[in-house]
Amino acid sequence: MNREELKNAVRNIPDFPIPGVQFKDVTTLFKDADKLRELSDLLYETYKDKGITKVVGIESRGFIMGPVLATRIGAGFVPIRKPGKLPAETVEISYAKEYGTDTIQIHKDAISAEDTVLIHDDLLATGGTMRAAVDLVKMFSPKDIYVSFIIELKDLDGRKVFDAGTKIDSILEM
Ligand code: AMP
Repeated sequence: MNREELKNAVRNIPDFPIPGVQFKDVTTLFKDADKLRELSDLLYETYKDKGITKVVGIESRGFIMGPVLATRIGAGFVPIRKPGKLPAETVEISYAKEYGTDTIQIHKDAISAEDTVLIHDDLLATGGTMRAAVDLVKMFSPKDIYVSFIIELKDLDGRKVFDAGTKIDSILEM
């Protein structure tokens, strides 16, 4: 299977959840056994030799391929969640959105300075969410940080919000 086949299988939902948004639905990739396997293989090939010890997934669509990749590379999995969802002590960061601000949290004991971390989410749009996640993970001073997406929306140029040298990879560009 090639990347074009994966790309063609992403379902586009116009005007969801609000008018003007072209929502990229990745559940059409996940429901197909061969496509799910291909996503897993592509992520594995990209990250198998990086010494990653923790995969961090962003709520909620980062919770699907994140643990799949973690098990394949022998890393642990850590969730980043919206406020009030994580049960133990957390650290958090707030970031500006188009309208208002958002906050994300991670358990205070989730990562150590010995970890090499990969942060995964399904999609890079403006980059605001992932930038905040990178800043949150940096508070733990890990050895290194990698950033991974299934889909990157090229027109929005979300990469521009990251510091130069940030190691970003996406499986599909749309
Ligand atoms: P951003 O912070 O703008 O990069 O937005 C990224 C987050 O919003 C990710 O968690 C995505 O799941 C979600 N998202 C933003 N735009 C879309 C879109 N067009 N289709 C699907 N998910 C989106």
